[in-house]
Amino acid sequence: MLIFNKQSLLIEHLTPFWATKTTIGFVPTMGALHEGHLSLLSQSLKENEISVVSIFVNPTQFNNPEDLAKYPRTLERDVEKIASLNTKVLIYAPTVEDIYHGNTVSQSFQYDGLENQMEGKHRPGHFDGVGTIVKRLFEIIKPTHAYFGEKDFQQLQIVKKLVHKNNIPVKVIGCPIHREANGLAMSSRNERLSPIERKESALIFKTLSKAKKLFGMKSAKEISKFVTKTFENHPIIKLEYFEIADEITLRSCLRKSKNKKYRAFIAVFVNNIRLIDTISLN
Ligand code: AMP
Repeated sequence: MLIFNKQSLLIEHLTPFWATKTTIGFVPTMGALHEGHLSLLSQSLKENEISVVSIFVNPTQFNNPEDLAKYPRTLERDVEKIASLNTKVLIYAPTVEDIYHGNTVSQSFQYDGLENQMEGKHRPGHFDGVGTIVKRLFEIIKPTHAYFGEKDFQQLQIVKKLVHKNNIPVKVIGCPIHREANGLAMSSRNERLSPIERKESALIFKTLSKAKKLFGMKSAKEISKFVTKTFENHPIIKLEYFEIADEITLRSCLRKSKNKKYRAFIAVFVNNIRLIDTISLN
């Protein structure tokens, strides 16, 4: 395992691999690594000659300063987790300065309207920040394959769009969601949940699973009503949004039609901790 804090040193290390067309798998993360992150890394290790993991809490994708300040930063533990895999992994854990060179702002991106749905509506500027960091990391690492979790399904579709629109020569691969035993989608933000909050948060996936069962029997509107009702008056969980949307366009669906793929998407606040989840409805 090798750790790089500076892009110049990482680039120096990677240059011979680019020249020999070595397959380079890349897993971008914000750290506080869990099984979900490690499953992306395992897939990369299986499918590539070398793998790079980035650990960087990207300030420009946070619309809420408190969320950025409280985001867990556990680099030492993260490095130990990667070391325990006993395989060669390159870690890129840069400073904000190494990425942004004193100008910590986002570029503006258009993703054919994908950015205006769900997370885009509720987190202004978020996908400009995501586009900025992902494009920059792709330019530094030049991976042949990049691994993203379906947990952040909108982000996955947006990264695919970014790659397509900018002709970036990388294959973007979506990976399944890893969950806790109670169904809660693994997330770095779960570290901030108290034991009671964690237990109560099982309701998120339980509700998505029920929505999946209802889909096809009930309209999207009726299912949304059911979800709203489920969280109404909940003592600690507040629903931010629930949507049933087309997987490709991410536009809300009114009714089910054949030959299309759908997903349910949810965002909630557990006290002041924001969690998202999604489920395929096909
Ligand atoms: P993050 O550190 O939250 O930015 O996540 C880094 C990558 O890991 C993203 O592509 C996420 O979608 C993915 N990821 C996060 N949580 C999970 C999970 N529970 N299962 C699978 N992938 C995940």
